[in-house]
Parts: sequence; structure tokens; C-alpha cells
Amino acid sequence: MAVQTVAPHPTSSVDLGPAAALSCRECGHRVPLGPVFACEECFGPLEIAYDFSAYDVEELRRRIEAGPANIWRYAPLLPVPADVADKPNLNPGWTKLVKADNLARELGVTGGLYVKDDSGNPTHSFKDRVVAQALEAARAFGFTTLSCSSTGNLAGAVGAAAARAGFRSCVFIPHDLEQGKVVMAAVYGGELVGIEGNYDDVNRFCSELIGDPAGEGWGFVNVNLRPYYAEGSKTLAYEICEQLGWRLPDQIVVPIASGSQLTKIDKGLRELVELGLVEDRPYKIFGAQALGCSPVSTAFKAGHDVVRPQKPDTIAKSLAIGNPADGPYVLDIARRTGGAVEDVTDEQVVDAIKLLARTEGIFAETAGGVTVGVTRKLIENGVLDPTLTTVVLNTGDGLKTLDAVAGTGLTATIRPNLESFREAGLA
Ligand SMILES: *Cc1c(COP(=O)(O)O)cnc(C)c1O
Ligand SMILES: [Zn+2]
Repeated sequence: MAVQTVAPHPTSSVDLGPAAALSCRECGHRVPLGPVFACEECFGPLEIAYDFSAYDVEELRRRIEAGPANIWRYAPLLPVPADVADKPNLNPGWTKLVKADNLARELGVTGGLYVKDDSGNPTHSFKDRVVAQALEAARAFGFTTLSCSSTGNLAGAVGAAAARAGFRSCVFIPHDLEQGKVVMAAVYGGELVGIEGNYDDVNRFCSELIGDPAGEGWGFVNVNLRPYYAEGSKTLAYEICEQLGWRLPDQIVVPIASGSQLTKIDKGLRELVELGLVEDRPYKIFGAQALGCSPVSTAFKAGHDVVRPQKPDTIAKSLAIGNPADGPYVLDIARRTGGAVEDVTDEQVVDAIKLLARTEGIFAETAGGVTVGVTRKLIENGVLDPTLTTVVLNTGDGLKTLDAVAGTGLTATIRPNLESFREAGLA
């Protein structure tokens, strides 16, 4: 296993704002900030440890509210330098929190239903949030090439961020991805490499490359920069609470690929409570998977603490990680908060994409179909309480997964006259 990668420049004096060190999630062992991701003591994942001790809560709230309309309003809570907003970055975030009253009526939710619509990010998925953090870490550590293993959306986000910031990029994807995602990843001019295999094969290949001289000077956003990358998902939690008027939602439905997003949303919510920015009250986190790649929901339902890998076969390709690194942590969080992990079939994913489009005018990618479909199923099963405030994540844009709704199209084709219009039953 590649534990330590060598950065081109010494990293002792790196300025990543309030980030103080890396700390092992399993054993608490601390190491200085650097491009490392696994604990040298126990191989557990490393996370950012912060020093927030100097913050006054009212002053912090004012500073955030006066900040830019993107994730950098939360710079005091992220591993980035204080002047991050002045650096070339795609500046994602501050996406819409849509009050979904029509969908609520359809699903029988009375406590307030919201869709956090991350299709509004620069490359039309939530991945811009995490890449923005990794880019700042790559800059701080002196990397010149940005890379990743991707299920599709990450490749586009890395390509675009590298283009803006003047990095070289070379990204790796499974060879059989949706055309929309391949084009989105390639158009920014970086190198895009298809690997004959699934995402888990791509990921294994990247781990090998990191340990090889060929990968020297490369920042893999979701491998050797993973501790920094992962923190970007906290901004979803921050935005949702601020957009609700500095209030925790009661229930939140989150898609699961590696499980990183879900675990960091929980971390973000807990930080807001600890800082005093929101009132401490119970919240439940629900995880959503597609049945064709459901290692975490399978473990949840079986009462297991470990996740048995699966071979993915689903249209929800952005979530198709058969061996999710953060799976066990997702199980912990769902159980600790009183949530659940559920899955839906590909057919239910498609139905849910159409339901969200028809009710709220939001065209979600398959991952959004997964969360909306799981929300519906959890309500039907009496697991999700329809009388409570509920936030459902849509993490990507339907234009990237058009194949999922193939067959949706013309109502009729007519000649350009009124007779033909009437004949078609449209009058
Ligand atoms: C990557 C991704 C996720 C979440 O991925 P995690 O690995 O669980 O953090 C969710 N939705 C979309 C569309 C994605 O591309
Ligand atoms: Zn450890």
C-alpha cells in the first residue's frame, strides 16, 4: 500500500488556514499536513484536525454571511488559506435549496421538503466542491499535475479545475462511461484515460501509480489528497443549515458511492453544533444506493458492521463503487443518528428522475433519481417521518445521463397546420 507520497517541495510551513494536522480516524495518531491519506500506525484513514478555538460565534456568523456566494464563505472552516477566494478556482457551491412543495404533496410530506440542487455547480455535479479543496492542497504541496480515479463526474470536475488553475491534468475512468460524462471530462483539454475495468479496478491502478516514479508530482484528488478533498462535502451541510436560517434539518437523504460525502455531511453538521452556529437537536441521516450496487444498504439491513464488496451493475454509474472506502463509517452514522440505508431498482431510479422533473422542474442525473426514489420508499415503509423537515440531495445533472431516460421525447409529430394539430388530439 502506498502510504507516503513525496511532494516536490517541503511541506512543514504549509498554510491551509485552520487545518492544524492530519489525524487518524481510527487511532487518533497525528501527523503534519502533507499529501498522505493512511495512518502509518494502523492504516486507518487520515482526516483534517482543525483549530477553531479562536472563533467567536457571532463574529464567525457575520463573517460567513458577508462572504462570497460560493463555498469560500466557509473558508474559516476549511483546509484552505485565508485568501483562497483570490486564487484561480472554479468557486463552486451556494447552490439552490429548492422548497419542493409539489414533490412534497406527491410524497405526502407535510413537514417541509427541500431539494439541495447541486447540478448548479460549474461542472454540474457536487464534485466541484471536493475538487476545489484538493486543488488548494495540491497548490500548497507544490504538485503540478492533478489526477483522479473517477466514476465520471470527478473527471470533469478535475479537468475543469486544472484548466482554470493552470495545472496539467490526467484522469482515469472506467472505459464504458456515459457519453455525456466522457465529453464533459475531455473538453477541458486534459488527458483522459479509459481503463478496461470497473471503478474499483481504476482505483487500484491509481494506487499503483502513486507508488511509482511515473506518478511523482501528481496530486490524486481522491487518493493522496483525499483528506483535503473529503472536507469539501462539509460545505453541503453548512449551506443547507444556513439556507434553512441556521437550523439543522430533521432528516437528510444522501447518495452513497464511496460514502465520503455522507460521512463529511455528518462531520459538517456536528461542527456547526460544536461552534454554536446552530442549535443542537437530533437529526437523522439516510443513505441511498442503487440496488445494482448496494454494498452499504445490504450490510445495513443485515445488521453487519463490515461491508462486503459487490460487482456493480446499475444505471447509476456515478454511485457504482462496489468496495466503498467509507462504508463502515456510513453504517455507524446511519445507526447513531437513527437513520437508515436503503436502495432502489434502476426502474425506480428512472421513475424518480421523471417524478422530480415533473413536479419541480429539476432534471437530475441517476444519483438524484436514487435519492428521490429512496426517499419515496422510506416514506412508504414508514422509516422516514413525513411530518419532519427533510432535505434530499440532487448531486448531478440529468444532461449527463440522458440514456437513463431514453424514450422520453416527442408527444407527436405533425404537419405545420391546425388540422394536423387537431388530428393529433392536442387542441
Ligand atoms: C461522487 C458522487 C457522489 C458521492 O460520492 P461519495 O464517494 O459517496 O462521496 C454522489 N453523487 C454524484 C453524482 C457523484 O458524482
Ligand atoms: Zn491510526
